[in-house]
Amino acid sequence: MSLENTLEETALTFADLGLNPDVLQAVQDAGYVHPTPIQAQAIPLALEGRDLIGLAQTGTGKTAAFALPILNQLTGGPHRARALILTPTRELCVQVEENFRKYAERSGLKTLAVYGGVALEPQTKALRKGIDIVIATPGRLLDHIERQNVVFDDLEILVLDEADRMLDMGFAPQINRVVAEIPKYRQTMLFSATMPPEVEALSRKYLRKPHVIQVGRRSMAATGVTHAVYPVPRIRKTQLLTELLKNKEMDSVLIFTRTKHGADRVVRDLRQAGIQATAMHGDKTQKERTRALDDFKDGTMRVLVATDVAQRGLDVTGITHVINFDVPQEPEDYVHRIGRTGRAESSGDAYTLMSPDEIAMVRTIERVIGQEIPRISVPGYDFGTTAA
Ligand code: AMP
Repeated sequence: MSLENTLEETALTFADLGLNPDVLQAVQDAGYVHPTPIQAQAIPLALEGRDLIGLAQTGTGKTAAFALPILNQLTGGPHRARALILTPTRELCVQVEENFRKYAERSGLKTLAVYGGVALEPQTKALRKGIDIVIATPGRLLDHIERQNVVFDDLEILVLDEADRMLDMGFAPQINRVVAEIPKYRQTMLFSATMPPEVEALSRKYLRKPHVIQVGRRSMAATGVTHAVYPVPRIRKTQLLTELLKNKEMDSVLIFTRTKHGADRVVRDLRQAGIQATAMHGDKTQKERTRALDDFKDGTMRVLVATDVAQRGLDVTGITHVINFDVPQEPEDYVHRIGRTGRAESSGDAYTLMSPDEIAMVRTIERVIGQEIPRISVPGYDFGTTAA
C-alpha cells in the first residue's frame, strides 16, 4: 500500500473529521485535499480526547495526525506549555516543529523545538516567555526542567513520537523522568513504526485504554518507489556506487551506511572519484548536520551519506534516489530508509548494494515487506546471479 494509493482511496475531506475552521484553513493552506488513512482514523479519536497508539511510519502523514487535533484543542488561552511532543532525534524534532508552525500560523499558538547540541540560552528565553507546544528530545528537555525553565502543570496532551526509536536509543529513563513531571490527567498519544514488547510496556504504563490504529501493515512506506538489489562483492561496492552515480537523473541521492565510520569512508571515496558528497551522522556537530542538510535540501549538494539514526525524521522533498550501501540490519530500517524517497506524491528509486554475506538479510527484508525485490546484474560487478 503506498501513500499515493491510500491518498486516492481516502474519499473523506478534513471537514468530515470534525476540525474547526481555523485548522481546516491551515490544512487548505498546506495544500492537503484528503486525509491519509492514519489521519482519517486518528483525528476524530484524538478530538474526543482518547488516548491512542498509532502504528505508522514516517511518510504516512502521522505528524499531521496528531498536530491538527492538538491545534484544534489548544486555540486561545495563556501561553503555557499545554502540549508536549517527545521525539528521538534533533532532526525529527525540528521537522515536527516546522509542521506545527506551518499549521499554527493563524492560531496565535507558540511552538518551540528543544534539542541538544546547541546553546541552552535561546531555548531558555523562549520557554520563559511562554510556549504552547513544546517539541523536544528527552535529554535536553530534562536540562530545562531541572533549571525550571519550563513547568508542565498545565499540560493537556503528551505525544511520544517514534516511540520504538526512542527506546532503541536508550531514552526510557529520560522519558520516565519527563512523564513524572507532567499531570496524570492528560491525553497521551504514542506513535511507533513497530510494536516490540518494550513499546507495549511503555504504552501500558502511560496510556489509558488506548485505541490502536494501524496503517500500512506489512507494506512499503512509500509511493511509486522502484526497488532493486545489486549483487556485488563488498570490496567493489564503492566502484559500483560511483558507476551508478554517473546517471545524471540522480538529482538528489541519499546513501545509507551502517556505521558513522562507513559514512565517512564513502564520502572520502566518492570525493576521490570526483563526486561531491557530505556525511551526516551522530559524530557531526549540530552546526555541521544543519549545514549538510541545508546544502542537500537546496540542491547545492547532490549526495548525502547518512546512518540510520541520523536519517530519522529527515523531511527532504525531491529525493530521487535512496541507495543502501549496506543492507539494513533491521527490516524496519529498510522501510524507514525507503520512506525518504517517494514521500507523499513523488516517486523515487531505491537501490540496495548486496554483498554475498548480506543475501540472508535481504531475504528477511523481502519476507517482512511482503514483496520480492528485483535483482539487477551489472556485468563485471555481479558475484553470480545464482547466488542471489
Ligand atoms: P509524515 O509521515 O508526517 O512525515 O508526513 C509525510 C509527508 O506527507 C509530509 O511531507 C507531509 O507534509 C505530507 N502530508 C501529510 N498529510 C498529507 C495529506 N493529507 N495530503 C498530502 N500530503 C500530506
